[in-house]
Amino acid sequence: MKRLRFLKKAGAVAACIGGAVAASLFHVPAAQAQAKTQQKPNIIFIMSDDHALQAISAYSPDLIKTPNIDRIAQEGALLRNAFVTNSICGPSRAVILTGKYSHINGFTDNQDRFNSKQQTFPHLLKANGYSTAIVGKWHLNSTPDGFDYWNILPGQGDYYNPRFINMGQDTVYNGYVTDVTTDLALSWIDAHKQKPFMLMLHQKAPHRNQMPPLENLELFNDRKFPMPASFYDDYKDRPALQRQQISMRNNLDIDHDTKVPCNGCTPKKGEKWAPRNYMREINRMTPQQREVWNKAYRKEQEEFAKLKTTEERVKWQYQRYMEDYLRCIKSVDDNVGRVLQYLEANGLADNTIIIYTSDQGAYLGEHGLYDKRFMYEESLRTPMMIRYPAGIKPAQKVNEYVLNLDIGPTLLDFAGIQVPGDMQGESMKQVLTGQPVNNWRDKIYYHYYGKSFGLTAHYGIRTSQYKLIRFYDPISTWELYDLAKDPQEMKNLYNDPKYAKVAAKLKAELAELQQKYKDPQPLANK
Ligand code: CA
Repeated sequence: MKRLRFLKKAGAVAACIGGAVAASLFHVPAAQAQAKTQQKPNIIFIMSDDHALQAISAYSPDLIKTPNIDRIAQEGALLRNAFVTNSICGPSRAVILTGKYSHINGFTDNQDRFNSKQQTFPHLLKANGYSTAIVGKWHLNSTPDGFDYWNILPGQGDYYNPRFINMGQDTVYNGYVTDVTTDLALSWIDAHKQKPFMLMLHQKAPHRNQMPPLENLELFNDRKFPMPASFYDDYKDRPALQRQQISMRNNLDIDHDTKVPCNGCTPKKGEKWAPRNYMREINRMTPQQREVWNKAYRKEQEEFAKLKTTEERVKWQYQRYMEDYLRCIKSVDDNVGRVLQYLEANGLADNTIIIYTSDQGAYLGEHGLYDKRFMYEESLRTPMMIRYPAGIKPAQKVNEYVLNLDIGPTLLDFAGIQVPGDMQGESMKQVLTGQPVNNWRDKIYYHYYGKSFGLTAHYGIRTSQYKLIRFYDPISTWELYDLAKDPQEMKNLYNDPKYAKVAAKLKAELAELQQKYKDPQPLANK
């Protein structure tokens, strides 16, 4: 097992293999001189997994304070209307890399295999003199290409003492995955900061099953998180929601998700357990880690034992889900802080573009759900903020509709590289630098293909006021929402005669978008 040296607890900002990063903190003048002579911006793209924007204080102050992530927005631009084109882990990553919709880049669902030899923005940066790297989650069932260095988690990866694939070699790192991923990132930057670099720093957290780091296990014990107003959605007139299996009520595991070990448990009606999954995670821990973990979660086990009714259990599970989710996010935010401090200490902060985003949004109890996939707002939206002091003024609030499809074109544009004509996204540069923008998109196109967890494949259009969704496989149904009157998307208006004209207009616009993006239009006009 490889050991990384952690300096975080001692008050230093960086940790690394062999101490190279720590040493570099004391050589600021030389690094600053290098940064001044460099023209092209460095790029650090930080992406977490399933980070709902409700859980970032730059967007919403209610759930958690994320001062480090917020700094990126305060010192740069906060994208208030950032959306994904296909709300699921692997496909989103493929869209970001290629700047192309799923049906063009070939990776429509998590089971697919990404052809990493195809044109991506990292390939183009590398061909133009950038050092390129990716660390953390890859999740595309292939080997990265276009990167000088890659050190990725296999599949979903693990939270504790994670195994990585380091340029093809299995390597286990001792520690917590969010810290380890950041350590690997800072080590690589430290060795490659002499010429323009582009690093993709992909955190696994806060993806299910939300195993927080040991130092955060007591956080939020004194908080009671209010359930969202739509938690008890009855799914009336929405058959696709009726058949999903991503509900907090029915589909969270008592042990794997809420950390109550089974220990010969006899499941009551409606309870779901997954001992094999949970124990696989627990067995990765060292005896010392396990001791701290078990001690911290004893309270939860006692609470669970006292629950009498299904309703009590559902409410308790919601609280437990939120606590662990936010504990993981606290660690993501701390590690964003380490990256920012490293850049400052090394004179790289001004000439580095830093993006924080997630592969999509997530439900935190809205519509009674966890997870993502559906085209409803909470998982269609994604957090996105960009800091680049040399090119973007601080405290910009951007309301234009942007897509994760736009990230590649934007970064190429800032790097002075021509955006290939076959990329389907738009460069956000003008939007971000406050220049007048003509004909920016005022509607977005979405297409989700997956059918696992009781989902139904669907596509749709979102405008400033409306959303029209076509569910087509395995069931066939339409949904229409008036977002101005019904922002929580509880009332399907598709069969309301008063909205017939609206629906017809949206269908025509939807067909135009499918044509524009060259989607083969499954059942578009039925
Ligand atoms: Ca995800």
